[in-house]
Amino acid sequence: MNPSHIEHIGIAVADLKNAIDHYEKVFGMKCYNIEEVAEQKVRTAFFRVGQTKIELLEATSPESPIARFIENRGEGIHHIAFAVRGIEEQLKHAERQGVKLIDSVPRKGAEGLDIAFIHPRSTHGVMIEICEDKNG
Ligand code: ZN
Repeated sequence: MNPSHIEHIGIAVADLKNAIDHYEKVFGMKCYNIEEVAEQKVRTAFFRVGQTKIELLEATSPESPIARFIENRGEGIHHIAFAVRGIEEQLKHAERQGVKLIDSVPRKGAEGLDIAFIHPRSTHGVMIEICEDKNG
């Protein structure tokens, strides 16, 4: 896949407003975007750390994957996102290699990115998102 960099790190939080305040206070970072992704039942908040972002994720419904994650494991790192080019081809290639995908076709994520998740069973226990910014 040859990712160019870590686009963002997704952190599941129980209370987004509380977590934003805390990150701003402790790390002196400024949240620059809050966005709801209805399809994934999450509300997200973004911070920049160099070229990588921190994405805080809060569930907007008890059926949200983030709600289930927090129920099972508590707050914490939910996924790491690699920036790639040609995301559709990368997914097809990964599938042919026997990688277990959550999304075999990209979908729209926050910030207008095309995203797809790879199952933690295929990545030694960490959910990996691959994403492509087709506008940039
Ligand atoms: Zn993400």
